[in-house]
Amino acid sequence: MGRLFLIDLEGDLYSCKHCKTAFALVDDIISKSFQCRHGKAYLFDKVVNVSVGEKENRKMLTGMHTVVDIFCVTCGSIVGWKYEIANEKSQKYKEGKFILERYKVLGPDGSEYMPPLDDAEDA
Ligand SMILES: [Zn+2]
Repeated sequence: MGRLFLIDLEGDLYSCKHCKTAFALVDDIISKSFQCRHGKAYLFDKVVNVSVGEKENRKMLTGMHTVVDIFCVTCGSIVGWKYEIANEKSQKYKEGKFILERYKVLGPDGSEYMPPLDDAEDA
């Protein structure tokens, strides 16, 4: 183990809610229209400074996907997932792309997103 080497991002970005590690640029957002259990989630072309978990198959609204969870390299909190394989042809564009759950990250202006009230068990 040693010092972590973090990748610097320049520009407007999303960062870890807990430790402010930079994850992704606003310019790399593919879609803001995703939903997860805790409200909004964004699809990104590139995400840095994360480590990945074990591959698993997950049934989602849009079909079966093989995904890996992604974790902040600095504090280890789970921040979203990466799509490895999408079984449905119409979902193939997601392969190799990343989801960041909005309530796990700080926005470009440092803003926090609150999950919908009916699902706020962590609050
Ligand atoms: Zn962190």
